[in-house]
Amino acid sequence: MTDDALVPDSSRAPGRSGSPRPSESLGPSGSPEPRRPSGSPRRSGSPGPSRSRVTEQGGGKRDISRPPLPEPLPAPVVDNHCHLDIEDGNSWLDPASALELASSVGVTRIVQIGCDLQGAAWAVKTAEEFDAIVAGVAIHPNEAPRVDADGGLDAGLAEIERLVLSSPRVRAVGETGLDYFRTGVDGVAAQRRSFAAHIELAHRHDKTLVIHDRNAHDDVLAMLDEHGVPERTVLHCFSGDADFARRCLDRGGYLSFAGTVTFKNAQDLRDALVIAPLDRILVETDAPFLAPMPFRGRPNASYLIPTTVRAMAEVRGEDLEVLCTAINANTENAFGGRW
Ligand SMILES: [Zn+2]
Ligand SMILES: [Zn+2]
Repeated sequence: MTDDALVPDSSRAPGRSGSPRPSESLGPSGSPEPRRPSGSPRRSGSPGPSRSRVTEQGGGKRDISRPPLPEPLPAPVVDNHCHLDIEDGNSWLDPASALELASSVGVTRIVQIGCDLQGAAWAVKTAEEFDAIVAGVAIHPNEAPRVDADGGLDAGLAEIERLVLSSPRVRAVGETGLDYFRTGVDGVAAQRRSFAAHIELAHRHDKTLVIHDRNAHDDVLAMLDEHGVPERTVLHCFSGDADFARRCLDRGGYLSFAGTVTFKNAQDLRDALVIAPLDRILVETDAPFLAPMPFRGRPNASYLIPTTVRAMAEVRGEDLEVLCTAINANTENAFGGRW
């Protein structure tokens, strides 16, 4: 996850929020209510949603209504980074509902990213239940110092490796990396140790490495150079400028753009998007965080990918269908083939 500024640390403490609430309508926007397909998998005491996003920001209430469904895309794309296990808004979108809404607008597949042991186990289980979902597993860089302080980092990393081996539905190791924005200097050593171990895991088991990089561009690349860049490496929620994009591309990385690329103050990101070759571009939500404009701050979900992709096509001056087709193929290449 790339917690945006709306998410204080306290909201990210692991913990259950009780039994999941049934899916409700998308809110007052008049969007269709997700219909639960009969016979769709149900949760039965399994982990998740693992966290709830807070609904207040700086003393003021966020708008937690779900944005309306956008126009469908002309060709299917994949949301390659999503946290279906994190609840937000006035209802939790269970995987079946999230997939149904997303596929109704052309977002037909999802990479579900688990960020701690519980979330990673949930991601594997969910990927095994839904053909449209594959999983990434890791201890998030902002979790690593906490786990390490409890003396559990080595055991945690061993459990992540066990999960990687537990199912062919696990396509990625991540999100891992460095976050100097949310974790202070005292957490850097644990982050680096965890990142190095995840890079090695990706190499050892030929999995895609999904990197979380926040305010740590140079150190992320230095560690990749030191440990070797895995064959398939994704810079999730790419947050650099054109120069950093080139340095990532030089190493064979894929750049995954999130709703942040639509933000007014994100010209650097748009510059990076413009110089990226068509075959290295991915799109993601990082849902429930980072909803694209004009829905910034509201609950994000995979069905909002078309809003981001349309903005990306406009920035690049690219035909929308061409971009969608490329993203779909790129995602398969980046995550080890079709699913
Ligand atoms: Zn992230
Ligand atoms: Zn994420």
